[in-house]
Amino acid sequence: MPLALNKTGLSRLPLRAAIFVTLACAAIIASTGWTEWASRDSEMRNAEIELGNLSRSLVQHADGTAEIAGSLLAGMVIALEADSEKSERIARLQSFLNMRKTGLDRIHGLFVYDEEGRWLATTEAVDLAEYNNSDRDYFQRHRNSPDRATFIGRPVHSKSGGQWVITLSRRWNHADGSFAGVVLASVEVSYFWEFYSRFDIGSQGSIALVSKDGIILARNPDNGSIGRDVSDRPVFKGIGRHASEGAMLFQSAVDGVARLGFYKQSDRYPFVIVITKAQSDVLARWRHDAIHRILFVLGLVALISMMGFYLVRQLLNGQRMAVALVAKEANFRVLAESSSDMVTRIGVDERISYVSPSCVTVVGWRPDQLTGTAALAGVNALDLPRVRKTVAALKRGNAEEARISYRTRHREKAEIWLESNLRVTRKVDGEIDGVVAISRDITEQKVLEERLETLAVEDGLTGLANRRHFDDRLQEEWARALRDNKPLSLLMIDVDHFKTFNDRYGHPAGDECLRSVARILAGEMKRTADLAARYGGEEFALLLPNTDAAGCARIGQRICRQLQKAAILHEVNLPSGRVTASLGGAVCWPGTERSASRASLVEAADRALYAAKEAGRDRLVMAGQIVALLPLKSTAR
Ligand code: GH3
Ligand code: MG
Ligand code: MG
Repeated sequence: MPLALNKTGLSRLPLRAAIFVTLACAAIIASTGWTEWASRDSEMRNAEIELGNLSRSLVQHADGTAEIAGSLLAGMVIALEADSEKSERIARLQSFLNMRKTGLDRIHGLFVYDEEGRWLATTEAVDLAEYNNSDRDYFQRHRNSPDRATFIGRPVHSKSGGQWVITLSRRWNHADGSFAGVVLASVEVSYFWEFYSRFDIGSQGSIALVSKDGIILARNPDNGSIGRDVSDRPVFKGIGRHASEGAMLFQSAVDGVARLGFYKQSDRYPFVIVITKAQSDVLARWRHDAIHRILFVLGLVALISMMGFYLVRQLLNGQRMAVALVAKEANFRVLAESSSDMVTRIGVDERISYVSPSCVTVVGWRPDQLTGTAALAGVNALDLPRVRKTVAALKRGNAEEARISYRTRHREKAEIWLESNLRVTRKVDGEIDGVVAISRDITEQKVLEERLETLAVEDGLTGLANRRHFDDRLQEEWARALRDNKPLSLLMIDVDHFKTFNDRYGHPAGDECLRSVARILAGEMKRTADLAARYGGEEFALLLPNTDAAGCARIGQRICRQLQKAAILHEVNLPSGRVTASLGGAVCWPGTERSASRASLVEAADRALYAAKEAGRDRLVMAGQIVALLPLKSTAR
């Protein structure tokens, strides 16, 4: 999928990836936070339910205690108000109390006081005459009020035992309805304290039994607060406004600890159970688990963030590289398209993937006609193996660049010469993905080179090989004849009385005459290895590899005949009056004639030529022969 690039050349993908990763992390953190908050909430609710259940049970327990005490007091009042002698009633009651002494579990003591507060009977084993309870609040209340219901008083220190007790009392009357005294049941505060300590409410929790007017009756832990008036505390003020039970979250005025509290009012008696538990205790287990869960999630988020960061960085790097590549490609195209050279990009499949517009001038085809075609399609079959070899070496990575010239087809012209600079291109990972070729037409240069080469070996006047080329070829052919043990023949030809030809017909005519002689010599070169050269002035040489004396003589004679046939007028060259030449031939077997050399071959031919001149010209003399093989007759006379 192509990347959508913005103005700076970078796509929004990395930004989107970064936003996505950030959002994913934020979502994980938010959902974890939400889950943990919900679980904290449910923990608080569970604690509330637990405290609610406990407080209901404890109210029931306190109700039960008050119930038992109330029943006993009611029974005692009935007994005391019975229609009999007072001392008899007291004695009967005392014996009842003595009986109940051991059977009472919750009730610590039962007492009967007369209208003066004196002790009439009790479950305690004490001397009754020593005590008077007329100073107690409950006593004065009953004396002043005709109310006959059970009254729950403030906790007091027991007069007989000295410990904290909660008092439940009732008024009893004389037969005329006047105040006769008080019956009282006491419950030890420690009874509640011990009972409440059986429940786990945490190290900072508390269970309190509080009277409706705000006096603490019993409390666990007992921190010296028994009998304290807490009616002015905000927490207590909130109790029972709207319902007989409820939960509240508050900050302790004493120790500043946040607490969850639950209160339950008794329906039947004027007291309230208040249970509190420190919020830190309620949430301890949740906090412990939550910390582990949150640490795990934070670790996960850190991991995702790191991976996201890495991913985004990779994306950015990739993009920067892509942008750099696009810029590079643009630069490449600008250079390629402004160049007069043909720039070609060739894939590893050797097909053209790109060619610059200058291909129209270089090879005559348009880019669209070339793109996708085989890069080596037009290469001359003779050059193709060499070109293939070079390309294969580049593809293998043996070389990074190469320069090669070869012939190739042009759409309109004949074959042209191209010179290509090839350079390997690589992918980002370094793998070779093709070759870039910069090609130019070097046909003119090649023609010039060929011309120069020709000039270097050719005689300007006659078009035959020049003296230097003759010397080179003589050396080569000598070596070959030596190697192959073949004969090598040499014919030296000198135009007769040429000086006088010049004198008579002029120098240009002399030149033309030399060209005519050269044509005759060139016409006798039947084999490709044969070489006709201008040896100097009006002297020519014929190098005839793999030719024996007979063959050499045959050629020499043919030359003489051809000259006769040409019949070029040379009036002063008597007797024929036509242009003639003297020929000296020599043959050598370099393989067998060990003492022979190139110089000796030339010398032998030269001597033979001299002999031909001496013998009267217009003839061939073979080295080692003095006589003309073919006496020449004047034909043009
Ligand atoms: P001989 O039969 O003994 O060979 O006599 P000759 O006159 O041919 O020999 P000589 O060596 O005395 O003269 C050669 C002449 O060839 C001299 C020179 O003017 C002429 N010559 C040499 N090179 C050229 C050339 O390139 N063009 C023309 N027109 N004449 C040339
Ligand atoms: Mg000469
Ligand atoms: Mg001559």
